[in-house]
Parts: sequence; structure tokens; C-alpha cells
Amino acid sequence: MIQKKVITMNDINITAYGATNFVGRSSFLLSDRDHKILLDCGIELIPKQYSKAPTGVDFVANEIDAFLLSHAHIDHSGYVPRLAKKGYNGNYYMTAPTKDIVYKLWLDHLKIEGRRHWSELDLDKVYRNIKTIDYKKKIKISDGITAEFINAGHVLGAAQILIDWEGNLILYTGDINDRVTPMFDGYDLPEEDISTLIIESTNGERYVPERSKINVGLGMLARQTTEGGNKMLLPSFAVGRSQEILITLAFDEDLKDVPIYIDGMINSMNMITEHYLSEKWVSKRFLEKLKEKGLNSPFESENFKPIPSLPDKPHRSRKYISKKDEGAIIVTTSGMLEGGPIHTYLDLLGTNKNTVLGFTGYQVEGTTGRSIYDGEKEITIQSDYRQKKNITLKTQIMKFPYSGHSSVDGLKAAMKKTKAHDIIMVHGDQRNQIYILDYVKDIAKPRILEEGVSSELRSA
Ligand SMILES: [Zn+2]
Ligand SMILES: [Zn+2]
Repeated sequence: MIQKKVITMNDINITAYGATNFVGRSSFLLSDRDHKILLDCGIELIPKQYSKAPTGVDFVANEIDAFLLSHAHIDHSGYVPRLAKKGYNGNYYMTAPTKDIVYKLWLDHLKIEGRRHWSELDLDKVYRNIKTIDYKKKIKISDGITAEFINAGHVLGAAQILIDWEGNLILYTGDINDRVTPMFDGYDLPEEDISTLIIESTNGERYVPERSKINVGLGMLARQTTEGGNKMLLPSFAVGRSQEILITLAFDEDLKDVPIYIDGMINSMNMITEHYLSEKWVSKRFLEKLKEKGLNSPFESENFKPIPSLPDKPHRSRKYISKKDEGAIIVTTSGMLEGGPIHTYLDLLGTNKNTVLGFTGYQVEGTTGRSIYDGEKEITIQSDYRQKKNITLKTQIMKFPYSGHSSVDGLKAAMKKTKAHDIIMVHGDQRNQIYILDYVKDIAKPRILEEGVSSELRSA
């Protein structure tokens, strides 16, 4: 076993600009006398309002030595171009898939929120300074500091970031998943013992069922619904969840004659995914399964029908699909029903009691998705060809307990295996964090940070 290096800390501090005891605005500054390293720089999405920025970042942007991005999700990446706006001219480290995905998300953010936080020009500056790195490749990011990206099992290209800071090993998990999913076999961990573990805690004590169980349920319901000539609507997050759902449907032999329509940004994310179908980025098991099915890509299955967003008037296709007398599955955005093509489908199919509306992801409080999830039937929708209107939802509602985040067992295992004596829990809600804090109190001194307040990392 590799021994922990014994060194004294040169007072390394951590400051969180968000994601302390909540999810959103992940951004953490590690600093000592001579260095400043920023991990992630996300925004907090607030339903029906503009997003919230990790404001403290503005004051340190032009002092940081390096910026590292764990993965593309907007709660980790949405504020990154602001760093360029505020004078940061250094490198932006991320994996190649993250670079491709995040660029699309940044363009989409400009469309939704305009230049509130940053402009196209800032985005160009960032893009020129992105350095892509592979998993398990150590790179020097500043004098005496190296970083290594480690598979997080969360979404394509997602990484945990291991920092060797003059001999102190700090692991920031970003978002991790321990469950085996169609594309990934769960997170990896570094071989070495860690001094400080900064760990997400999204699910807290919430139990996450194995994917195999959830996927069997999804397949059964898809068959039942479509055999009766009805439609199944699956609003889904464009990055990660949609690909997972589509792969599950693609591998289901009983569904191979059922049309599966794919709408919204999911299509461009599928194309990015297709570029990275190698052992470097996805599991061997997944690649073997593709081979067994005779597919180069899961999205080239014959029954898959992407809805082109160009030329304009995609609503004509949406109308045609919805009215067509056939059983079909529609996988579309947005995942929390806050906008996107799902509203048009709800306009066309939402009052049909034979339609199934299936939830495939967590619904944040205050979103349209959450209110439907909680039983609300009177909803306001904005389809792509009409003004806002109210409808009484009559569809059947199904809830699939997918999660892209680690189960409580996975969190505990990471805490134990890394042997960290300093555990900082981030990206979760406080009730859940307290439960986990309690569990590890004998092996470490776990804690939750206070937003905007710098605190010292604890030495062994
Ligand atoms: Zn994420
Ligand atoms: Zn996140």
C-alpha cells in the first residue's frame, strides 16, 4: 500500500461560492500563499427566474492560476465564460467530451438568458484556452501542483479531480455515480490515500435502486403503452439521462418495431456521444453489447427517428407524430418540463388519458415537472406555435427513480476507501448531509462549508 506523504500544510484554504448545503453554483477555490486554483464555476437554475451566479468568483477571477472543470452540467459550468470577462487568461482544463458538450450548453444558455453573465466574446476567449486531458494523465497546473482527472461514472466525460498540492492529495469528486448504467461501470477511485475529500452528497440517505430494475420497468411500460397504440412521453435531461434511456430502449428486442422519436437538444448530444464510443470514455461492457447488437452507435437503431430542429417549423413534425395512429415513444426536452418541445407534446397529447407521461429524473421544487410529479393537473404550457395556455392534464403519470448521483452506499464507500481524514460534503441538501456526517464521524471529521467563507484544509 502506498503510504500517505507526511508533510506540513502550507495553509491550503477552501472557499465555496455555492453548492455548500444545496445543489447549484458549484465553484470552489483552493488557495495558499502562492497559488489559487478554481474547481468548477456553475450557475444555480431557479425555476421561472434568471439563474443565480457564484458572485464571489468575480473578485478572484483575475488572480487564479488554473481553472479545472469536472463535467459539463450547467450547475458546474454555466458561469465559466465569466472568468474570461473578469480577466482570467489562463488555461481551462477539462476532458474532450466535456469540451464538446459544454460548448453546446453555453450557446443554449446565451439563447435562454442572453448576455447577463457573459457574452459570445467571452465564450470565444474561453474556447481558445481549453486544454483537454484524458483520464489518469497527470498534468502540471502550477508550480508544485499537479492534477489528474478520474472517471466519475456520472455523464460522458465527467471527471473527479485529484490534486497533488505540494504533496497534499485533495480529491474533488464533482458529481459521481456508483451504479452500473448502460454506458458506465460506476466511478473509479485513486490508488493513493487522500488527505482531503470534497464529496458530492446529492442523494444523501435516499436509496437509489439498481438500474437493471428500473430499466425492466421502463421496458415493460413502454411495451404495454405502445402495444395499445398509445404514446409514451419521456421528458428527459439532454445530457446523460436521455442517452441512458435511449440505449435502454435500443437494446430492448421487444421494442425494435416501435417508433422512438427523439426531439430537442438530445439529438446533438447523441451526436457528440457517438464520437466517444471507445474504451477511453465508456465501459467495455457497453461496447461489447453494441457489437453483439451489430450497431456502431445505439442511436442508429432503425426505429430511432430524430426530429430535425432545422429547417424551421418542427411543430409540424410534432403534430404529425402526435396525431398519427400508432404506438410510439417520444423522448424529448426539457427534463423538468420548464420549456422545450415537451410543452408542444403536452398540448397535443396531454388531455389524452391513454398517454403515459414518464418522469425519468429528479424534479426540482418550483418547476412545472415537480408540480405535475406532486399531483397537480391544472398546468400552463407554452407550445411552439401558440400562446401560453392552461390545460387539465389527463395522462397517466409514471415515476422512474433514475439518478445520476451516487447512492448512499457509494458515498460511504468513497469516504472509507480514500481514507480521507478531512471530508467536506458539498452539493446536497443539509438534512441528507447530516445523516452521512453522522455515519462517518468515527473515521473522519466531516464538515459542511459556509458559503463565501474561507476555511483551512485539515492536515493529518
Ligand atoms: Zn452533474
Ligand atoms: Zn451537479
